[in-house]
Amino acid sequence: ESYLTRLRLTEPQLKCFLHISDNVLKQAQELDDKINKGEDVGPLAGVLVGVKDNICTSDMPSTGGSRILENYRAPYDATAVRRMKEKGAIVVGKTNLDEFGMGSTTEGSAFQVTSNPWDVSRVPGGSSGGSAAAVSARQCVVSLGSDTGGSVRQPASFCGVVGLKPTYGRVSRFGLMAYASSLDVIGCFGTSVADTGILLHAISGHDRYDATSSIREVPNFTPQFTSANLVESRPLKGLRVGIIRETLDDGVDNGVKSAISCAASHLEELGCTVTEVSLPSFSLGLPAYYILASSESSSNLSRYDGVRYGKQAVADELNMLYGDSRAQGFGPEVKMRILMGTYALSAGYYDAYYKRAQQVRTLIQKSFKAALDANDILISPAAPSAAYKIGEKKNDPLAMYAGDIMTVNVNLAGLPALVLPCGFVEEGPAGLPVGVQMIGAAFDEATLLKVGHIFE
Ligand code: GLN
Repeated sequence: ESYLTRLRLTEPQLKCFLHISDNVLKQAQELDDKINKGEDVGPLAGVLVGVKDNICTSDMPSTGGSRILENYRAPYDATAVRRMKEKGAIVVGKTNLDEFGMGSTTEGSAFQVTSNPWDVSRVPGGSSGGSAAAVSARQCVVSLGSDTGGSVRQPASFCGVVGLKPTYGRVSRFGLMAYASSLDVIGCFGTSVADTGILLHAISGHDRYDATSSIREVPNFTPQFTSANLVESRPLKGLRVGIIRETLDDGVDNGVKSAISCAASHLEELGCTVTEVSLPSFSLGLPAYYILASSESSSNLSRYDGVRYGKQAVADELNMLYGDSRAQGFGPEVKMRILMGTYALSAGYYDAYYKRAQQVRTLIQKSFKAALDANDILISPAAPSAAYKIGEKKNDPLAMYAGDIMTVNVNLAGLPALVLPCGFVEEGPAGLPVGVQMIGAAFDEATLLKVGHIFE
């Protein structure tokens, strides 16, 4: 009830949710009844979860933030949602996002603009801005987002919460609306590293409905609490941390740089050895990402033809029906991505763009491998700045894309990364949070969660 009250009070201003369940208290009551009967209710019993609206749920609409799916209701729950529900979680609602996950501010939603709870004149980040802002404002306990190029980590940084992008393949994508299938992962938001780890554990593991989900065993991600004086006992003694040199170049705000160097000193106090590491192909990640993500999306979004799902235009002839449904249903950013992706995949341009971007992707994977052979984790900012004003980058897509520089490389390499608050910049009415990104070796979320838990 307390969460629902806060939701009612804050939602008119924040606009985090596209749909809110009217069934929350009833589900909580059913759980209570089970507890009273001594039945097992699962590790997430009664935990209120927000779910990004590009993740399918059978009991509420799933729009992907797009007019083309307005009022669409999926016939099934995404595997991640089903697994949470089976463990007792209650989905409180579906959170706002940039249409199909394409954007970094949540202004690209076809339905509403979400505000940052730290300063309502600012963006919450994106594309999972609704999920990050909802947890930040304590409208729900934890939430699910998706991360194709940073959409969990950058909004976590902007909203001052914990965000985790798991290794590609750790969590099933079944029921996640495909944006760029080789990069997409479902990720978690929480107010603490421990909560985020518990949520990850609940949704992870092989799923026969997603051929790219890994058969690896899922370790227990719940970090252990230590009561000792952390600075005295240096619990991270021997842990090798590499700061990625290229992420502290010009173009990164000074406030962000100093928050990251404070984070590095704190890790040293905890026993880590911190050194600089170079990823020479780092700056190539952004152009490679935008070519690959647009190419994959141009193919994935061909399913919205006005026949199988969602909105259908009135037309006399089939090609017109396809064309008009897409023209009316997609927003401008999505159309631009489809055009860029179709161009990059066209005969004659394929070798110059798509193939070249794939070669860059291999280079990036190799340089991460080398850096993570020499270090246990890597750290960087999660974004070059703190949250900026609503409208500031809306008409400048290249400036918005440039803000993804800290996160896209990690998706190209498929690695896990955790973002957690590490400082503030003096802007806005109450200061604005800054997050540090910790990047780990593939399938080693456990180390990130352990370090993050001790760090916070
Ligand atoms: N901002 C990036 C994009 O627009 C990343 C989005 C995401 O991770 N879904 O593609």
